Amino acid sequence: MKSHARVVIIGGGMMGVGLLFHLAMEGWDDCVLVEKGELTSGSTWHAAGQCPSFIADYNMAKIHHYSNTLYPKLEEMTGQATGWHGCGGIRFATTPEELDYFRLVEGIAANVGFRMQIIGPEEIRKLNPFVDTTGVIAGAWTLDDGHVDPAGCCNAMAIAARNLGATIIRYNRVTGINPLATGEWEVVTEQGNIVCEHVVNAGGCYAARIGAWVGVNVPIINLKHQYVVTEPIQEFKDRDEEIPVMRDPYSNAYYRQEQSSGLIGIYERRNSREAWVETGGQAWDAESELFAPEFDPIMPWLERVMERMPIFADAGLIRTVNGASPRTPDHNPLIGPAQGLRNFWLSCGASIGIAQGAGAGKYLAQLMVHGETEINMIRVDPRRFGSYAGREYNSAKAHQGYKYMYVLHLPGEERPAGRPARRSPLFNKLKDKGCVHTEVAGWERPKWFSLDGREEEYGFRRNNVFDIVAAECQAVRERVGVRDLSSFAKYDVSGPDAETFLNRLLANRISGRDGGIVLAHGLSETGRIESEFTVTRLASDRYYLLSAAVAEVRDFDLLNQGKSENENVTITNVTEDYGALMVVGPSSRDLLAKITSTELGNDHFPWLTGKEIEVAGVPLRALRINYVGELGWELHMPVAQLESVYDAVWSAGEEFGIADFGSYAVNGLRMEKAYAGWGVELTNEITPIEAGLQRFVKLDKDDFVGRRTLLAREQEGIQWRLVYVEVAAVDADVRGGEPLLKGEKLIGVTTSGGYGHTVKRSLAFAFVKPEFASPGSSFDIEILGERCRSTVLPGPIYDPKNLRLKS
Ligand SMILES: Cc1cc2nc3c(=O)[nH]c(=O)nc-3n(C[C@H](O)[C@H](O)[C@H](O)COP(=O)(O)OP(=O)(O)OC[C@H]3O[C@@H](n4cnc5c(N)ncnc54)[C@H](O)[C@@H]3O)c2cc1C
Repeated sequence: MKSHARVVIIGGGMMGVGLLFHLAMEGWDDCVLVEKGELTSGSTWHAAGQCPSFIADYNMAKIHHYSNTLYPKLEEMTGQATGWHGCGGIRFATTPEELDYFRLVEGIAANVGFRMQIIGPEEIRKLNPFVDTTGVIAGAWTLDDGHVDPAGCCNAMAIAARNLGATIIRYNRVTGINPLATGEWEVVTEQGNIVCEHVVNAGGCYAARIGAWVGVNVPIINLKHQYVVTEPIQEFKDRDEEIPVMRDPYSNAYYRQEQSSGLIGIYERRNSREAWVETGGQAWDAESELFAPEFDPIMPWLERVMERMPIFADAGLIRTVNGASPRTPDHNPLIGPAQGLRNFWLSCGASIGIAQGAGAGKYLAQLMVHGETEINMIRVDPRRFGSYAGREYNSAKAHQGYKYMYVLHLPGEERPAGRPARRSPLFNKLKDKGCVHTEVAGWERPKWFSLDGREEEYGFRRNNVFDIVAAECQAVRERVGVRDLSSFAKYDVSGPDAETFLNRLLANRISGRDGGIVLAHGLSETGRIESEFTVTRLASDRYYLLSAAVAEVRDFDLLNQGKSENENVTITNVTEDYGALMVVGPSSRDLLAKITSTELGNDHFPWLTGKEIEVAGVPLRALRINYVGELGWELHMPVAQLESVYDAVWSAGEEFGIADFGSYAVNGLRMEKAYAGWGVELTNEITPIEAGLQRFVKLDKDDFVGRRTLLAREQEGIQWRLVYVEVAAVDADVRGGEPLLKGEKLIGVTTSGGYGHTVKRSLAFAFVKPEFASPGSSFDIEILGERCRSTVLPGPIYDPKNLRLKS
């Protein structure tokens, strides 16, 4: 057995093998995959093999789509039968909201490149003449997907990987992993040890146990899932064509043809999460494990399937498959670096891993080999979860997601499982005031305030909270608003080399004056945007950094892993130590003047300044910045003092008409100011040049990560540009992923949008080919199936000269 390799992948299921193949395609052939049993003997062999392309997330859809383009070709490439059936799929809509959802996905399909049509019941019955479409108003017909034999497909990728030089060792269990002083890893197996640069945990249901060997929390729960196979059905035998894979919210099921039999999989829905048996403790020697059939929980749903497909009703069952697969709290897989470790990767947590195996492998291979991917991987980055994602949380979320597999999660809808996981001391107080919270990185974050007790009518279009959000925006623009910002990721960076370190790591020049604040981006070696920090210089050797809540773990890694050995710098994650409030609006200075003795005028406390001051008797960090574009301060204080400062702000603000506001309002306000968002506009897909952020990049600095490639990029030119547009929207605003059309030509994609209540305009960000990016350029954005005329704006539509910020 090899004693050295560049990469060791633990686990020979769809995720591990998909990665091995794509690493080999990237030219990394010195890779070894170690599997404790036969390939596919974990969750992969028993899967039903469906590969849906209908996914509402732009980047996840790219992962699925890639798999669906590779699988049909694999048999010819390798000679291994894969059982690919390109029969397509149909998902049912039974409500107008589901139809809107289809329209959203239709736009994503156009951008990603898979064929999808919204069809009516009659057309559905042409494709599946056996289905009863009672209550169905439409179907989302995806034409390029289907189902595959998972074992055949996985083995075909294994053959393709071996053909390119990769090594697969079966019947060899990995029993431990040791970090070596050289920075390499030693993978301990039953057949000997392998020293390698990179380790990948693709252990499926065992991934959490493998992660624990190196102290990595892998937030998965293993859940059972069942499908049944019927006897052959004459009506299927009599046809040449195969019906599409049906996905049906009414029965919470998928059903399709398996040769001439029927195959029915159920996502049973029971009230108690204890109703499922978790299979977290599978024995190491378990191989090709199945569980005894459990009919009771699936029976009511099977009956609904029979209503839909009466030809199934008379067929007996010849097989029941009850197997386990892993699930994460948000149902996206874990693909990317493991927190806190160098060259330790996860490719696990896939609950639809047959559909995702190849795509996940392709993009993770890009990341490992080139340090970047062509898609935005934030939604699958394992570090989107922190230590709050413990067993209880994971379990509650995983069960909820399983139960609602085909139940549309409507915009605005807040599902309760696992909440609250993280909350600021203001949580209950704000809730009592009508606050509706939303969850971000486990945090409960204020979304809007129901002052009259109304409940949001969820949906994709503007709804009954539109006016309330308008009122919150008005308070901020005309009076003063307050908002709990405690979920921000926060770091103290200190030490004699702190300034040099930050200047080397980040693209902007760190302020040279005490109290100076800059916005600074962390770039990859190739100049792409990895992170965005607000950096405040508290003293020459003390800096306070803020970044997005969901970036807390990955930015902590970026800072720690970016530090050179000879740099004397201490980095502390103080996210949970500090609470934060935004006090913002034209009256914010007068308000704060009542509760602080610090001079707040422009001479003493100008825009982009941070100071350690006292407010309401509490020593805190006051930063004159905000994300909504008004005069205002962020107050960051020891978390225990948050409530008393909030109370003081509120009392002092009453005479000015203070109002609470939430993230819905923030979105509209930041859109008016054309503030791009990290993770949506500012992602690893682009450099600051495409984003138009050159003013935050100091190419004249000696050096910083990504500088050289950025210089080259400036010469070469760019393929995309981020633009800020006004949209003639009717009753729904851009959400992200909508196509941009010039005539019938696809010229770009939106990233996010919202309604600017002050300027009374619908606004959006989009990536567009440079020839369409000039101010005044116009095209259509398709929102929920409607083409809306859109025009590129030259700059912020509200206060373009920042006069209000600086007032
Ligand atoms: C009934 C059922 C139907 C399903 N249907 C579908 C479907 O239609 N479409 C779809 O996309 N998904 C489906 N799934 C989900 C799918 O099966 C999984 O998402 C997928 O198989 C996960 O692949 P994986 O490679 O992550 O895990 P696995 O296939 O479990 O692979 C992990 C491998 O790691 C090995 N391993 C673990 N620990 C070690 C160790 N210490 N040393 C060496 N090897 C180790 C295991 O033996 C295993 O082979 C279904 C799941 C179930 C339960």
